[in-house]
Amino acid sequence: MKKLVEPNFYESVMQNFDKAAALTNHAKGLLDQIRECNSIYQMNFPVKFGNQYEVIEAYRIQHSHHRAPTKGGIRFSEHVSQEEVMALAALMTFKCALVDVPFGGAKGGVKINHKKYSVDQLEKITRRYTVELIRKGFIGPSVDVPAPDYGTGSREMAWILDTYRTFAKDEIDAVGCVTGKPVAQNGIRGRTEATGRGVYYGIRELLKQEDEMKAIGLTPGIAGKTMVIQGLGNVGSYTASISKEEGDAKIIGIAEYDGTIYNPDGINVQKLISYKKSNGKVSGFPGGKLLKGKDDWLSIKCDILVPAALESTIHIGNAKKVKAKIIAEAANGPVTAKAEELLLKKGIIILPDMYLNAGGVTVSYFEWLKNLSHMRFGRMDKRFNENTNLNLVNLVEKMTGKKVSKANKKLLTKGGDEIDLVRSGLEETMLNAFHNIREVKNRRKKVNDYRAAAFINAIDKVAGDYMMMGIFP
Ligand code: NAD
Repeated sequence: MKKLVEPNFYESVMQNFDKAAALTNHAKGLLDQIRECNSIYQMNFPVKFGNQYEVIEAYRIQHSHHRAPTKGGIRFSEHVSQEEVMALAALMTFKCALVDVPFGGAKGGVKINHKKYSVDQLEKITRRYTVELIRKGFIGPSVDVPAPDYGTGSREMAWILDTYRTFAKDEIDAVGCVTGKPVAQNGIRGRTEATGRGVYYGIRELLKQEDEMKAIGLTPGIAGKTMVIQGLGNVGSYTASISKEEGDAKIIGIAEYDGTIYNPDGINVQKLISYKKSNGKVSGFPGGKLLKGKDDWLSIKCDILVPAALESTIHIGNAKKVKAKIIAEAANGPVTAKAEELLLKKGIIILPDMYLNAGGVTVSYFEWLKNLSHMRFGRMDKRFNENTNLNLVNLVEKMTGKKVSKANKKLLTKGGDEIDLVRSGLEETMLNAFHNIREVKNRRKKVNDYRAAAFINAIDKVAGDYMMMGIFP
């Protein structure tokens, strides 16, 4: 029997791009320019731990310069390779275009198992990596702006900012050189939760579409729908907790490295997050049964399966086991191109990564704007709006002779704080992008899935930018 050869992550992304590009009318040269990575910086730098030196392999790849700055997270993982970072950088270009964030795509990767290093060692590596980026002009608020990704968070972003500032001490917009920073260090409220919250908004919007739900035998609405999540890190934990708390979804399975916690009556997500924080694992958690098989998480019968760990976790070897009706790609590239063919034939709806996890870059954009404007969102208009609303409520009371309760008055007059505005901007962005993609899917006869529709939408926007520049008339 002929053995099926699975494309790697980069090849999967390129195959998906080619499939969608063939359905557009753009010239070959223009599509080639959109497809290829524009700048690749591979580095090896030494870091001294005690008396020993360790040479660290790392990357920063800018996929597209059609807009500046370029933007994309930094990943700390032992699986980092040039092709992995190229794939992630390419996805960033299309992600930014889909959600109308005016950046080119980029990504960084440091090939380390971050769990094996102390905090001091991680700080040394992060600072040295930043110096390498500065030396080659691969970082700066108008050049290339990193953010957190797998294995990194606000702590690493704070180190990056501090290192950058040491070298760019007179640069007025220096704090915009990186996003995902702690709020106290020029970050923005709502960034840490942003990717998971965006995932929730995307899933909720799909579930509102009566025609799509009817086709897969589900009733519309997220409330009561069963969900299984792989990866209880930043993205997975916020997706789980927000889907439960705001959408009333039932989280019945959560998978980590050491196994899957399964509870058909619903897992207490907050308790599991705290348990993992204290114990570094999910096994032993008293609120569910532990499934030990590597692929057990994807065999659980559920409505929505959410891979939120790493790429290629659903592949041709295990895709047949999937019993979900929807796969919501919170991670980047969790479904290989070959597995996708099989899953689509089974009638499963796949919400693609480049759309679904775009909440992170959307709020990073808000943070960058905040940094460039040197002012918190809501500072100028919060009180003004509250006073205007209060005048209106007072007028209604006077005209009707009826009193509005204190609680209702508070609700009706509230002005937007930074967190309210960030969430509102994120929701607007995710809903808008969903309907743009759905419109392409419904309008184009040959387009039957959300990934192809998303790629076409993104390619058209990037192509439009190049044509505006007059490079490809
Ligand atoms: P993270 O490091 O915070 O968490 C990832 C979690 O997945 C960890 O708890 C890890 O133990 C777990 N994990 C890894 N491999 C696993 C496996 N095989 N089985 C079960 N669990 C596994 O990372 P994150 O920031 O949540 O990123 C997760 C994914 O989301 C990545 O693909 C990343 O590129 C993507 N993403 C992240 C952001 C962001 O803002 N952080 C934005 C967009 C996309």
